Amino acid sequence: MSSQPTTCPACGSSDLETTESVTSVQATFGPVVSATLEKHRCRACGFEGDFGSHNDERIQDALERSERSSIDLIISDLNDMKISMAYVERALGLPMRTISRWKSGEHSAAGVAVLRIVRAFPWVLSAAEARFEATACASLVVSQAANVLISAAKEHRVNWTITTLQQNHSLDLNLHLDKPQLIAGPSNLARASQ
Ligand SMILES: [Zn+2]
Repeated sequence: MSSQPTTCPACGSSDLETTESVTSVQATFGPVVSATLEKHRCRACGFEGDFGSHNDERIQDALERSERSSIDLIISDLNDMKISMAYVERALGLPMRTISRWKSGEHSAAGVAVLRIVRAFPWVLSAAEARFEATACASLVVSQAANVLISAAKEHRVNWTITTLQQNHSLDLNLHLDKPQLIAGPSNLARASQ
């Protein structure tokens, strides 16, 4: 990994001391990958720094490696959720085998962004199937929020308080663990806020 610099940018001496360090970077949903960074010190004048200016490039390379691997990891996570790539393509109106092409390296920033959104919010596929119709979307958002709150309440056995940036807006949720109440759609939410 070591590249030979170069000279001291302060005094021009080539009497340099190089130390390496390893740093870790991780793209969204990607694996942790390491990058070896260099630091130089001039023995003549004591000036220190990345004289070769390679460190930014090495960090960028590592991030790109992590991002390429993130595509496989996201697809594997979706498979674990029983979401096939054919279904993703159909729901989003992508040509068949689009995702296979992304997987084999022909991906774009837009493709990676789509995969990240689907991985974070898999139910967006149901919204897409419903052609993003407003009531269907609202219902999905509310039921997904209810699922998150219910599982958090089961895990932590606590009540939830949601406070918005405006301090007079707050919503207290007391989830009844013995008799869970399903919050099914926006009409229930509107009623609860009255
Ligand atoms: Zn120097």
